[in-house]
Amino acid sequence: MSGFLTASSVEEALALAAADAAANANAADVQTERAGAAAAPGAAGVETDGAEALRVLDLHCDTLDRLVLSGDPTVPGGFYEHNAGVPRARMSRLDDNDGDVSLARTAAFRWCQCFAVFVPDQLRGDAAWALFERVRGFWEAERARCADKLAAVRDGEEVRAAFAAGKTAGVLTVEGCSFLEDDAAAEVRLDALAAAGVRMATLTWNAPNALGSGHDTDAGLTAFGRRMVRGLEARGIAVDASHLNDAGFRDLLDAAELPFACSHSNARAVCGHPRNLEDWQLREIAARGGVVGLNFHRGFLRDDGADATPDDLLRHADRILNVAGEGALALGSDYDGSDVPSWLTPCDAVVTLHERFAGAFGRATADRIFFGNAARFLFGL
Ligand SMILES: [Zn+2]
Repeated sequence: MSGFLTASSVEEALALAAADAAANANAADVQTERAGAAAAPGAAGVETDGAEALRVLDLHCDTLDRLVLSGDPTVPGGFYEHNAGVPRARMSRLDDNDGDVSLARTAAFRWCQCFAVFVPDQLRGDAAWALFERVRGFWEAERARCADKLAAVRDGEEVRAAFAAGKTAGVLTVEGCSFLEDDAAAEVRLDALAAAGVRMATLTWNAPNALGSGHDTDAGLTAFGRRMVRGLEARGIAVDASHLNDAGFRDLLDAAELPFACSHSNARAVCGHPRNLEDWQLREIAARGGVVGLNFHRGFLRDDGADATPDDLLRHADRILNVAGEGALALGSDYDGSDVPSWLTPCDAVVTLHERFAGAFGRATADRIFFGNAARFLFGL
């Protein structure tokens, strides 16, 4: 979740519309190039000639919260306001919806999606846990209802089985551990996360909580936060340092004993937003065997606020590849929780990005970015 862009003035709205038009023109150029090159992919955007479908592992989306909370004005986070114009019936099901990610869109790929339960900063302790349970309940209900299309996975064998059965693989993750507080409930809740199949969790969102802080403050990890890092690791839940501020990141380098991820963060050298990563952070993540998921949020792609083009994503990918090497870059779309360029949504549009990556870095590297690096990190594949 990165928050949704709000056009607070007519000028801003017009600027956004103009940027959209420019991006669409750019996307049209890409389509033209592609059509001229080889057999263009079909509508599903995947392979032709019997080749295996493109593999995708996306480390972060907010689809669960969006579907659960779009109809609920009482929960903070912006989902209700953002989706006010979308018919409720079109924003309620995982298999088919008008959001960015749906099983209807992922079906033609071998797609593994990390589905985050996003916990807004305004909720703490029991209230935060109640929201986690509410969204997890939706996930359980949807995976049961869509069992012919979706398999919840925790390890490499389950990913392989899901793909072999032609199903989308879904991984439960957490964004914002503000339900963990320094009391007896913390260990119980860590156990419950592991039992629910959670495989990765960010410690914070943007504001401070009992563990540490996002970029709203300069405070590092608390002693409790350091204990929770080890508590997550001990349960096979990867620590996700996206949203953590720089002081907290430095503290995490001491506290973490296992590789960790930044599931949805870009290169700060390319776009200076504090949610993006400095080169030294990229190097540390890579040196420890972690991964960085490329975020599609417009605000993290360009400093000037203009709509992002494929070249902007290439610039971030190029920087991360150069600084962190070939083994660290992955995808962390932030679908359904941010403002994604129109040419990158809904999610099956990523085939355009894969083609651009393959053209710039080679097919093998594009495949590692799209699947291999994250699959190694999460599943040892
Ligand atoms: Zn986020």
